[in-house]
Amino acid sequence: MAQHAHQLHQGDALRDAAARRLVDRGEQWTDMRAAVFDALAGFTKPASAYDIAEQVSKARGRRVAANSVYRILDLFVGSNLARRVESANAYVANAHPGCLHDCIFLICDTCGQTTHLDDDRLSGGVREAAAGAGFEATRPVIEVRGTCSDCS
Ligand SMILES: [Zn+2]
Ligand SMILES: [Zn+2]
Repeated sequence: MAQHAHQLHQGDALRDAAARRLVDRGEQWTDMRAAVFDALAGFTKPASAYDIAEQVSKARGRRVAANSVYRILDLFVGSNLARRVESANAYVANAHPGCLHDCIFLICDTCGQTTHLDDDRLSGGVREAAAGAGFEATRPVIEVRGTCSDCS
């Protein structure tokens, strides 16, 4: 694993890091965005836009449409606050919003638990292989399906 100052955040620290990151990018940390982030970070497994909309609706005491949640999740993914787990069609909060990695996800087919790995050597290899084929990689998606240690 590449060595650099790499902080994984959770709870209030993660929320603060996410808010800082968004504001640094010239975006506003609105109540609605904060509510979506809180809901996302509160899930222990990847959550769909619908799961998050439901959670935010409960928290805010009024119906929030999945569409508006989608737009905010898009902004979060684009700003490195969240990651999309493609094979689960769902999102997770990014535990290191301040630094860029090609995150690797291990997804349990039995319980849905998703473990997050960063191995820049491995993801760099994928980028290099793509470049070797004359392909410019913008976002390698590295997801491994299988069985987690709780389920095996
Ligand atoms: Zn990562
Ligand atoms: Zn499992």
